[in-house]
Amino acid sequence: MQQEEIPTIIIVGAGLGGLSLYHALMKNKDKKEFNVKIFERESSPTDRWQGYHIGISNLGAHSLLNCIPSSIASNLPKAMPNPIPDVETHGITFIDQVGNILFAPPAKPFKDVYELAKMSRGLPASIVTYRDRLRDVLLEGVPVQWNKKCVKYVETQEGVWVFFEDGSQEFCNILVGADGVNSPIRKQKLPELQIVDYGIYHIGADISVPQQLMDKVNKINGNVLACKSLGTKGDSTFIISRLIPIKQEQNDEKNEPHYRVSLVYSYPSELDNVNVESDKVKIDDNDPASVIGNVKRLIRELRPDCELTDLMLELWDLAPKTIPNDPVKFPFKTYNPVQRRMMRDIDPMSIKSWNSSRVTLLGDAAHAMSPVLGAGANNAIQDADKLSQALLKYTDNDISFIEEYEKEMLKRTSADVLKSRNVTFKTSIPLGPFGIIIRDSILKGINAMIRFYSFANKLIFKN
Ligand SMILES: Cc1cc2nc3c(=O)[nH]c(=O)nc-3n(C[C@H](O)[C@H](O)[C@H](O)COP(=O)(O)OP(=O)(O)OC[C@H]3O[C@@H](n4cnc5c(N)ncnc54)[C@H](O)[C@@H]3O)c2cc1C
Repeated sequence: MQQEEIPTIIIVGAGLGGLSLYHALMKNKDKKEFNVKIFERESSPTDRWQGYHIGISNLGAHSLLNCIPSSIASNLPKAMPNPIPDVETHGITFIDQVGNILFAPPAKPFKDVYELAKMSRGLPASIVTYRDRLRDVLLEGVPVQWNKKCVKYVETQEGVWVFFEDGSQEFCNILVGADGVNSPIRKQKLPELQIVDYGIYHIGADISVPQQLMDKVNKINGNVLACKSLGTKGDSTFIISRLIPIKQEQNDEKNEPHYRVSLVYSYPSELDNVNVESDKVKIDDNDPASVIGNVKRLIRELRPDCELTDLMLELWDLAPKTIPNDPVKFPFKTYNPVQRRMMRDIDPMSIKSWNSSRVTLLGDAAHAMSPVLGAGANNAIQDADKLSQALLKYTDNDISFIEEYEKEMLKRTSADVLKSRNVTFKTSIPLGPFGIIIRDSILKGINAMIRFYSFANKLIFKN
């Protein structure tokens, strides 16, 4: 009897989504065996800074635990240490330009990622996670083929040929583009699916904050780990941290504990043209000092004189203005260039039809979204989970399982793309005095409703 050939799946992109899918396919090996290959354009795991903190939600955590084997799950505390009871609140607070609380939904406490993953009813919950370490944890035991930049593919009757920049090519039965927002696979598969530019810049910096400054941050946000301060000219600042001291390679003369903090400043791009001449500010994205200088100029010009503004300026002063010449001594080992980046998204349902084939997409490649609701990575991981389930139904001649996966993925993620876009635009509108009153009243009203809902939920369901 002829032995059935094991089908090959190629994953392009070893980011959070691609790696989750790899693990899930390996975990399901007993149910359905695939020969899985994963290719990444970066030259090594430390080629590029892998980032800021992200919030992994109950939905993301649930899918992540579905995807990974217990050997990988046991390393998760390196990336998502358990919340410190009575010290850290894993939630988000919106404050105004002087630090008054506008919106602070109650955050339900949880012990660890397992408890988080089980939360289904009530408000969304999330754990602040070290994105770089999550990627390291997910890389464990995965035979990523580095330095392999995919440039195109060709579909045939039997499968798909995948072509790389180094001139090599590989054949597979199913190709998964997990290759991020600029995915060449998406561009080829769905050339009409456009990236939407918001006209809003965001600038991120990862800084190491000494205790005395962290105390000031905590005083303002009440130990809630994510805090967004809305300005009045469409600008906003975002701080996300953990209250766990980091091992400090620099500035440790005073032996003062330091904390890892991600800072983001966003503003409508036209604000770059305001007063540039008079201030003689030239913004060069290859020169971090000029980008940080511009952020500080905008904060000084757009924000009122107050404690919060001073704190923001102090925090931005900690962002490295030159590229560290010894990245090993840099607190985060690799350096993330401080640059202006345009906020962008892709609504996967903005095109008339999505042609299902042996080439499919997951994560940012299909549905990059504004980071404002922290849903990008969570959706990428959910995609990996759902696609791995769909692949259990794999047959050589029928790709309806791909169609099924895409149907669910499109609906779920398009909704999040549009919600994130909507919130980003609404919080980026320049406001006059009347507009500020309306904004503050709406947010405070929603806050009161959510708090009431949460209270009622506790009473009724006792959770
Ligand atoms: C400031 C900021 C804050 C965020 N906060 C949150 C948050 O709180 N919660 C949340 O859920 N999400 C958040 N996100 C979004 C989240 O980081 C992304 O949605 C997530 O990383 C997407 O995962 P991915 O695997 O689809 O893509 P990526 O992580 O971008 O991985 C894609 C991989 O493909 C590789 N690649 C690209 N092109 C090629 C090619 N041609 N050939 C081979 N390999 C290629 C890349 O090098 C990369 O390794 C945030 C994003 C930003 C910018």
